[in-house]
Amino acid sequence: MAKENKYSIRDLKRDFPTDEAVLDFIFDSRHSRKCSCGGSYKRITRRKQYQCSKCRYQIAPTAGTVFHKSDTPLVLWFHAVFIFSNAKSGISAKELERQLGVTYKCAWRILSQIRKALGEQGDDKLRGDVETDAAYIGGVYKAGKNNELLSVAVSKKAPIIAAIERGGEARVKVLPNLTAKEQATFVEKTVNPIGTRLMTDKTTALDRVAWGYERHFVDHSRKEYVRGDIHVNNVETFWAHVKRSVRGTYKVVSKRHLQSYLDAFVFHYNNRHNDSARFAALLGMLLRGAR
Ligand SMILES: [Zn+2]
Repeated sequence: MAKENKYSIRDLKRDFPTDEAVLDFIFDSRHSRKCSCGGSYKRITRRKQYQCSKCRYQIAPTAGTVFHKSDTPLVLWFHAVFIFSNAKSGISAKELERQLGVTYKCAWRILSQIRKALGEQGDDKLRGDVETDAAYIGGVYKAGKNNELLSVAVSKKAPIIAAIERGGEARVKVLPNLTAKEQATFVEKTVNPIGTRLMTDKTTALDRVAWGYERHFVDHSRKEYVRGDIHVNNVETFWAHVKRSVRGTYKVVSKRHLQSYLDAFVFHYNNRHNDSARFAALLGMLLRGAR
């Protein structure tokens, strides 16, 4: 892996030039070369298997991961992971198809499997200065001139909520609705009440339910967006990035897949400072495997 924060295609080609090199990396990430019998494991030529030199025990290092039983060459897989890792505004299957020279179906499957692995990101509670805000995303329905179609338009959009620890990580969830109860459940599961200043907009449903938290709010309805260090600008910026990216990259995202797309934005946010570490983190999630 490159020492710098950056990780380029040249680094990728140097670190993982062949399927054999990738397989060695996968083996060493998950197993020791030393067998308990005293022998040592070696790759079997032309197979995705390693065998102990003494007791002949065999290990398939990709077992339980997305790389197992995949017809896609491992170097292409790692190239896909690299592209995904660098795509901060997301990557569509169409674009991955073009970049890798694989079929659309193959590109689509690779992307959905990478996103699936992201669902298991850290679940430590956020603390310190934590901003939370809800929003609606998706849908192209107009509410009508006099808002007569507002309820239809809103029902086509998915309610989402985010909490972001300043200088730290983000958590985002698709909710069935934005009732006080749903929002409060998310906040309780996500934010540590001890040692936290919870920043919200006054108009959120959290009014009645953020008890137990030291809550500070700005009143957007009165055009108040910042009061001292009280604001939800980090979440607002995150929403803007997600909405712009979804429009630009995917056009439309179905409600069914929305959470996994959001997980990808959260992954990029939580690993935003270091390209090299982000790529390594993504490989780590995919290699944990065995789901
Ligand atoms: Zn052995």
